[in-house]
Amino acid sequence: MKILVLNCGSSSLKYQLFDMENETVLAKGLCERIGIEGSRLKHQPTGKEDVVFDDYLEDHNVAVKNVMEALTNPVHGVVKSMKEINAVGHRVVHGGEFFSSSVVIDDEVKEALEKCSELAPLHNPANLIGIEACEKIMPGVSQVGVFDTAFHQTMPERAYLYAIPYEYYEKYKIRRYGFHGTSHRFVSEEAAKMLDRPYEQTKIITCHLGNGGSICAVRNGKSIDTTMGFTPLEGLVMGTRAGDIDAAVITFLMQKENLTPQEMDNILNKKSGVLGISGVSSDFRDIEDASEHGNLRAEAALDVFAYKVAKNIGAYAAAMNGVDCIVFTAGLGENSGSTRRLICDYLGYLGVHIDSYCNSLRGKAMEISAPDSRVRVLVIPTNEELVIARDTKELLDK
Ligand code: AMP
Repeated sequence: MKILVLNCGSSSLKYQLFDMENETVLAKGLCERIGIEGSRLKHQPTGKEDVVFDDYLEDHNVAVKNVMEALTNPVHGVVKSMKEINAVGHRVVHGGEFFSSSVVIDDEVKEALEKCSELAPLHNPANLIGIEACEKIMPGVSQVGVFDTAFHQTMPERAYLYAIPYEYYEKYKIRRYGFHGTSHRFVSEEAAKMLDRPYEQTKIITCHLGNGGSICAVRNGKSIDTTMGFTPLEGLVMGTRAGDIDAAVITFLMQKENLTPQEMDNILNKKSGVLGISGVSSDFRDIEDASEHGNLRAEAALDVFAYKVAKNIGAYAAAMNGVDCIVFTAGLGENSGSTRRLICDYLGYLGVHIDSYCNSLRGKAMEISAPDSRVRVLVIPTNEELVIARDTKELLDK
């Protein structure tokens, strides 16, 4: 069975084609600047040369059509015809309270997705456009939606309610949803396998630390709390996002600087985080470099970031009344030993001890805690695309 996984953004489309016989990637690629001058499709067939097609990608329909052409191209392709593709799995950002697991997409599902668009105005409309483009270009091929929010639908009310008038929850569905669910699910399941413990009997804290970041408390295989909330702005300090902040700062700044809601939103989402504190970059590599060269604001940014992660790990150890294992994943979590060290240095009271040699390694799933560590610490590369392909296959098999 061959499954195409799509991740549609407002002007981009990422894809991976899986052969589910052995869960290998046959090809992957990226359409950039859809509907904008200079658009291009970068296609990476496994075992062949990468190739860039620079035809103008007018909209997502054209992008999906060109992806199909690349996948079936006599030279650069990996399948003979589109008919070999059995299903498409779509990453969908927001499933609101409608979806607690992946679903086969039909008209009813699309209607629910439209209702969720208000909750994720930058993402859900793009995801829907991708779904509709596939329906046009590949009629009759099953499509599955896999939601970033679904894994966190098991959060209890005490974790998801905000302390604002309850009528706003009823009227606008303002509550905490959480994101990165596909990643938290994947790495927590993998962690249980590495620990050789039944998933349903574990207390795991997963730290997805990339450009965006979130932490999740996974008790007995279920998300019981996570740091992102109504939107992916809440929680950790991120590349450009502020994370948790006293809400009064927002109204204060809006008044002082005469800012519109959009301008304020832009500051909190695009100009804050480690970029805002350091003034250097949103990329942790640049900030680590600046810090090593004596830039004090860069050093402060890394410190604020690591402290916040450590505080949340402590909070989730309390929420679960213990923790067996802490997992680091995503760009920063997988690659930056120095950040993992900064975070784990706060966790001595939990009995966390890191093995410096293991912590310096990269590129594979591994344990980085020392043999005497009371809590095991793992680094597990995330693979959201594989989860989407697996869920799609499972639903199709049914
Ligand atoms: P992601 O959003 O998961 O793709 O993660 C991207 C982020 O990971 C980048 O913004 C970098 O800050 C960070 N990152 C990736 N590799 C490294 C590394 N070797 N050292 C430090 N940070 C890294």
